[in-house]
Amino acid sequence: MSTQLDQKQAPIQLVTITTKTPPAQINNRLQTGTTSQLTIDVGALESHLKTALKGEVRFGGADRGMYASDASNYRMVPVGVILPRDADDVVAAVAACRSYGAPVFARGGGTAIPGQTVNAGVLFDFSKYMNHIHELDPNSRSARVQPGVVLDTLRNAANKFGLTFGPDPATHSRCTLGGMIGNNSCGVHSVLAGETSANIDELEILTYDGTRMRVGATSAQQYETIIQSGGRRTEIYRQLKEFTNRHADAIRKNFPPIPRRVSGYNLPALLPENGFHVARALVGSECTCVLVLEATTRLVDWPAVRSLLVLGYEDIFHAADHVTEPLPYNPIALEALDDTFIDDMKKKGMHPKNLNMMPEGKAWLLVEFGGRDKNEADANARRLMDGLQKTGHPPSMKLLTIPLRRN
Ligand SMILES: Cc1cc2nc3c(=O)[nH]c(=O)nc-3n(C[C@H](O)[C@H](O)[C@H](O)COP(=O)(O)OP(=O)(O)OC[C@H]3O[C@@H](n4cnc5c(N)ncnc54)[C@H](O)[C@@H]3O)c2cc1C
Repeated sequence: MSTQLDQKQAPIQLVTITTKTPPAQINNRLQTGTTSQLTIDVGALESHLKTALKGEVRFGGADRGMYASDASNYRMVPVGVILPRDADDVVAAVAACRSYGAPVFARGGGTAIPGQTVNAGVLFDFSKYMNHIHELDPNSRSARVQPGVVLDTLRNAANKFGLTFGPDPATHSRCTLGGMIGNNSCGVHSVLAGETSANIDELEILTYDGTRMRVGATSAQQYETIIQSGGRRTEIYRQLKEFTNRHADAIRKNFPPIPRRVSGYNLPALLPENGFHVARALVGSECTCVLVLEATTRLVDWPAVRSLLVLGYEDIFHAADHVTEPLPYNPIALEALDDTFIDDMKKKGMHPKNLNMMPEGKAWLLVEFGGRDKNEADANARRLMDGLQKTGHPPSMKLLTIPLRRN
């Protein structure tokens, strides 16, 4: 795909945006990089994109306004919006943006809260067209998906085989796999299968310089083959390896092995003991390194029936003190709730009958157990209830026998 630009026909429409170059060295915690300015001929870029892409190019005021907000409190107006039809479209669009020096960023459902999907560059919205499941194989328990696939679409397809994609943010009916990979999403069922990074085997990615490649775990032999092949991929892998070798001890020492560690770059994935897993290292990188074009995900067993055990505590701090107690009993979900939420529901008259089902307390742990049938799921929950009784200081408890929705 040529990136030759037809400057003659494009209307000149210069837009200047402010960017931050990350500091080469952090001297104090408040240092946030060097401010610089980029001037982009947005009119020419738009015309070029309109001829180069099969998908939609939306640079008008209404579209830019619409995409200036997401689930966060922030508002930033993008230079323009692209809705790519397929991966080739993304490659062509990034090439064009690069030619004009325009920064790019991505969006799936736009449900992340800290403002990652509002910015001043060119926005790629993957949710409208790149939302297909290419392949779902129950035997290998894996799926190959485009980044714009909504999580529930994948879960519903996997449920037919008694499988699911484990991490499930509360926004599961809206959030996309690309967004979940972008911020390493979790959700109540992440105790079943780990965070998103643990459920990604391979990614097809595109860097801003136009390098398109598949990445995953890298055996020593694969690494050698990549190093011999030459080109930009070789350079990237060599630098990643050198970086990891140089900092391996610091990475081991400073990244705590906690189950929901989703902050910062996922550098432990690059350690040799973790398979030099370039795909998992990119999970959580929030679109700062690559655009994800395709993902190969793991799927896990999804119990046919689930039972919910609610544990009541005197306040949220006591609930937090006891949060690890259910874990040895293999729950499939664990969530905490305090009375602010319940009081608000009472004020609004929401679900009064259900609220009466809560056991005594001002904070609760909701612990879900799975089984092949109701008896097995209840028996799994009762094992925890018995265990808590034996501690001599059991919380209030209620095993709910209401039928649960499958999702
Ligand atoms: C009410 C509410 C409840 C929530 N509950 C949870 C929860 O339980 N657990 C949880 O983890 N989160 C939760 N979230 C946060 C959010 O909904 C999830 O993290 C969700 O998975 C984000 O998916 P998304 O498609 O909306 O991503 P977006 O918000 O669109 O994007 C998230 C990140 O991914 C990047 N990205 C998107 N697509 C790509 C791509 N193709 N290539 C590279 N990067 C890309 C974006 O640039 C951004 O950095 C909640 C949010 C709300 C509003």
